[in-house]
Amino acid sequence: MKFPFGKQQKTFEHGVHPPQFKEATAGKPIRRMAFAPQLIVPLLQHIGAPAIPIVREGQEVVRGEPIARAAGFNSVPMHAPVTGVVQRIALAPTPMGNMAPAIFIKTYPGASQEILYGAPRDIGGMSPEALVLAVQETGVVGLGGAAFPTHVKLSVPEGKSVHTLIVNGCECEPYLTTDHRIMLERTQDILAGVHVALRITGASRVLVGVEDNKPDAIESLRAAFDACPAPAEVVSLPTKYPQGAEKMLTKALLGGEVPSGGLPIELGTLIMNVATLAQIGDLLPRQQGLIERVVTIAGPGVQKPGNYLMPLGTPLWFILESAGFDGKADQVVLGGPMMGMAIRSLATPITKGITGILALAKGGSASNTKTYPCIKCGSCLAACPVQLNPSRLGLLARKQQYAEMEQGFHLNDCFECGCCSYVCPANIPLVQYFRIAKAMNRQQRSRAQAAQNRGGRS
Ligand code: SF4
Ligand code: SF4
Repeated sequence: MKFPFGKQQKTFEHGVHPPQFKEATAGKPIRRMAFAPQLIVPLLQHIGAPAIPIVREGQEVVRGEPIARAAGFNSVPMHAPVTGVVQRIALAPTPMGNMAPAIFIKTYPGASQEILYGAPRDIGGMSPEALVLAVQETGVVGLGGAAFPTHVKLSVPEGKSVHTLIVNGCECEPYLTTDHRIMLERTQDILAGVHVALRITGASRVLVGVEDNKPDAIESLRAAFDACPAPAEVVSLPTKYPQGAEKMLTKALLGGEVPSGGLPIELGTLIMNVATLAQIGDLLPRQQGLIERVVTIAGPGVQKPGNYLMPLGTPLWFILESAGFDGKADQVVLGGPMMGMAIRSLATPITKGITGILALAKGGSASNTKTYPCIKCGSCLAACPVQLNPSRLGLLARKQQYAEMEQGFHLNDCFECGCCSYVCPANIPLVQYFRIAKAMNRQQRSRAQAAQNRGGRS
């Protein structure tokens, strides 16, 4: 089914073309990973309030059973990824590098992959409001890496409306191929998720954006989306980083600019990642929770690269051992090499927002170590897809003028894509500077707020 769309630009200004390194995993079907002897389920795997445990130490849990409830609307529940016994609720390392509360589950020997929780139901007659709550019960969050609760994203704010649902199948980070495999292997689940998203948001058309380095996925989606309940078009987009960023994708598909500080909904669009839609489409009719996800394991440091369906909470050491880690890599990165973070502890468990695990040599990611002074070449300005001045921002960051970065140079428009760091010949870790600056500004604001609250009480 076709829809008379307006002029599509099919691309955006600036950006970069890093080598893709996708061939080692893109052609291999998704494989299931075995259970580790112990799984660690952090209570905060999403943007919002941490979930609240509803199990106690020593309690037996069944794979799929809820083990923590959502702490309000801006939160999601957690489910047991394996049948076993709760050992403790204690601090564990997180992908962000800090320690946070988590539920430790000891896996029962011979635990089955079968999910013994949940029951089939007909979601056809559910109202949009009931569907939103049902999506929250699944615990699904943005699986493209954002980890924003999906039910919150699907709830269209008062006074706004959505005319176009954009399905994001770009997967523009090098190495990562989880979305690619999901588009090939779980096309019907994606379509079922699109159906749910259309019913909740009231959108009347669908645009699917896929980079042209995945022609088989484009073909597979085009065949499936003939059955889409709304007019739909699968658009082949040029391969360019960061094509999958929401603002870039909106510009490429609709030609519209999302305003500074705004969201795509300002233009009447909602963007959903293919993996997120596939999970909604699969879990909602079975009344089950999110307990596993597909993760790309790649990089020169692993002997068995591929896409693995793995239980959430699986520790990195177990995953790397299973994938034939040679122990020689200089860094293990969670996510892609452009936006991912080098990890410190291999005891860190996999969480809902992790798209990839890369075992890389030095220089394989945007976080190199040796830096040189800025030579004012302007490459970072030419690369920044939101037209910031990364060079100037970097200078201010080194002087710790964080407030000035925000007020005078739009720091908050930076979405940490890493293009500036990638092109910088002086190897200045610009994006790391910007992350620190944002964190410092946030800290400053909460200190000021706390002082104000104390003043108000006295
Ligand atoms: S990390 Fe920020 S400043 Fe650098 S290119 Fe991306 S958006 Fe621009
Ligand atoms: S790319 Fe690096 S060296 Fe060139 S202007 Fe930007 S910060 Fe300076």
